Amino acid sequence: MNAVIKQNLFLTIDDAPSAHFLKKVSLLKENKIPALFFIRGEFAEKRIHLLAKAIEEDFLLGNHSYSHPYFSRITMEERRSEILKTEEIIEKAYQLAEVKRPLKIFRFPFGDEAPLDSDIKLPALGWTIEIKDYSAKLSRDIDTIIKQFSSDLEKAKNNRDTQDHLILMHDFEHNTHCLPLIIEEIKRMQKNFHLSNFF
Ligand SMILES: [Zn+2]
Repeated sequence: MNAVIKQNLFLTIDDAPSAHFLKKVSLLKENKIPALFFIRGEFAEKRIHLLAKAIEEDFLLGNHSYSHPYFSRITMEERRSEILKTEEIIEKAYQLAEVKRPLKIFRFPFGDEAPLDSDIKLPALGWTIEIKDYSAKLSRDIDTIIKQFSSDLEKAKNNRDTQDHLILMHDFEHNTHCLPLIIEEIKRMQKNFHLSNFF
């Protein structure tokens, strides 16, 4: 028997929460697509109740710094404060939702990795498939973005060197119209992957 192990497909959404955050949360929920949102502290501060809602709906939150700087261009002390300030906000959101935080994870802004103090024990998560939805300001851009995503998923399906594929998309107000199409693509390809929830 030739058992083929399905590869994992994870959806990660950076720079949350935008003003459209809950709209995205409910669209994903309706379509039973799990996701990990990487939180920007400066956006989350005034929208902490939105984070609590997402937690209640079983979505995961990761740390994406406070003000999204290039980490290689700031000091160790600044890196530390960028991460810890956002940790506090995420902790508060889990307390508000009365849910035990299941994982602590970090993503460097722009993927710009730099050393951190050794007591900051947050594993850093990258990505393998990037959706260029941040450039979707014009509706004519969507086609190209979705076509690229679709072809990246095809490539991932055929790539047996790795078990895990990490999709990166973004939570901005100007790209909310892309999400239904992204969801459609994920669902179309779902039979080829194990759509995973990180734990
Ligand atoms: Zn980002």
